[in-house]
Amino acid sequence: MKVIEKQTGVAFELKEGQMLKVTDPHGEQVSDMVLFNAHDIREKISSGKTLDFEESILISTGNFLWSNRSRKMMEIIEDTNGRNDFLLAPCSPETFRIMYQNPHYHPSCFENLYTNLSGYGIEPDDIPTAFNIFMNVQFSPNGKLSVEPPQSKAGDFVLFEAKMDLIVGLTACSAEDSNNGSFKPIHFEIIGSNEEHV
Ligand SMILES: [Zn+2]
Repeated sequence: MKVIEKQTGVAFELKEGQMLKVTDPHGEQVSDMVLFNAHDIREKISSGKTLDFEESILISTGNFLWSNRSRKMMEIIEDTNGRNDFLLAPCSPETFRIMYQNPHYHPSCFENLYTNLSGYGIEPDDIPTAFNIFMNVQFSPNGKLSVEPPQSKAGDFVLFEAKMDLIVGLTACSAEDSNNGSFKPIHFEIIGSNEEHV
């Protein structure tokens, strides 16, 4: 098991067939995840394709995460919380200027994703809409969106299986509203056919 400290991120490779377990150790903490094809980083996770093919805006157990080339990147094997978001882009420096009226530096998922993924040749403009694990975005029939505290409790996890060789970017989200006002770590574990419990 590995730890993503609060308001930080990591990047790593995940082989086809390996599993990724992402755990919220304290509860009410979001983790943004982006995926790239390890052999061609122009192929990446797509919110639009996933919501289209899965015919839902709520993605959980049994759903697949699809790429911009309409191929399966991951399957969600287990989801003990059941609420994730795939509508909103990662929080970025502009998020805090525009939505929080905060003119000062603020850590963000966007920065934590592109800095950790830069070693794989991935640039800021390459970062897609993330799959926001544990994020609780509510929507009304007229389309109004609101970011509510996560419903995840300590120990809740989502277990993913890779359907192709992947580069994964993963954060412990830095936005106050997404995490009920406090920042916590995220735990993750790679469970592999090649390497057991890395
Ligand atoms: Zn964030």
